[in-house]
Amino acid sequence: TSSTAKTYNITLLPGDGIGPEVISVAKNVLNLAASLEGIEFKFKEMPMGGAALDLTGVPLPDETLETAKQSDAVLLGAIGGYKWDKNEKHLKPETGLLQLRAGLKVFANLRPASVLPQLVDASTLKKEVAEGVDLMVVRELTGGIYFGKPRGFGTNENGEEIGYNTEVYAAYEIDRIARIAFETARKRNGKLCSVDKANVLEASMFWRKRVIAIAEEYPDVELTHMYVDNAAMQLFDTIVTNNIFGDILSDEASMITGSIGMLPSASLGESGPGLFEPIHGSAPDIAGQDKANPLATILSAAMLLKYGLGEVKAAERIELAVLNTLDRGFRTGDIYSDGNKLVGCKEMGEEVLKSVDTKT
Ligand code: ATP
Ligand code: MG
Repeated sequence: TSSTAKTYNITLLPGDGIGPEVISVAKNVLNLAASLEGIEFKFKEMPMGGAALDLTGVPLPDETLETAKQSDAVLLGAIGGYKWDKNEKHLKPETGLLQLRAGLKVFANLRPASVLPQLVDASTLKKEVAEGVDLMVVRELTGGIYFGKPRGFGTNENGEEIGYNTEVYAAYEIDRIARIAFETARKRNGKLCSVDKANVLEASMFWRKRVIAIAEEYPDVELTHMYVDNAAMQLFDTIVTNNIFGDILSDEASMITGSIGMLPSASLGESGPGLFEPIHGSAPDIAGQDKANPLATILSAAMLLKYGLGEVKAAERIELAVLNTLDRGFRTGDIYSDGNKLVGCKEMGEEVLKSVDTKT
């Protein structure tokens, strides 16, 4: 009954390009999976990105940010498009996304990358390697060399021009990302690998020291350490790393899976709602044609349930439904290969809904 159902408020930010198409499909899947687990969702759809610019003159209206902050989780489609590419910086759709991340104070970026058995052929890895790929990069998002001071241009002691940046991490910044990584590893296979460059960098030596200290709170998680140059060749398990290494490793991880339309992401803070979105952009080349692969957004909705709300069962329902739909041969154009059934965004959504319903 509705009086005993758990209720969550979800902010939907469809955004631009294929964003509205994939969000509308993901919303239905989220709704069904949740209701089968006795969960009730109240959705609020708000303008964001280029759509918000056209409507209100800014890429992130105050009302959108306030609604997002007051909700339990935020699901974003994609933002941007040719139309606004020449806008000034503060009037670019992408600026709205930076403002949203700052406003929600999300400092941990979770990027899973796995090669699903059904899509091994689509991977750019060798078949025997691709089969085992199932990893999660937990990237620190708000510190490190991209933000550290001092930074700038100047001259060295020989009077030559230089450019410089600084990698800085405070204990609290490492501790909080480490905790999120340990919690994430717990929800996966109980293994965590911290990636650094502690043989060369003091900031990395400190990183390693803090991660080891936090590990005492998680005796059930097996912690290992690896230098980043090594990690680039051995991506596996759950990885926790700084901003710049995470930037590189998460992009590498998504490239090797070979299917941008399949990959979800989550950005989490200490408290307050997390932000969940597909890693792909607004794909203006296929927008409005019902060709977009909605699975990255559907899997982002599963992350919303698992990492945002702790509703693991409902999340697993969605993950299983996606696998089942692929097993039944349904493919959008981006992951299509001979012998499969080519479908559009809406039809793919309908098929996932059928799988959610039957796999109880
Ligand atoms: P960003 O917006 O992050 O700068 P981008 O504009 O380079 O990225 P995307 O918008 O992700 O990239 O599109 C890159 C290519 O991948 C395009 O050809 C696009 O059609 C395709 N693509 C992206 N997402 C999907 C999807 N969900 N389904 C099918 N094709 C997709
Ligand atoms: Mg784009």
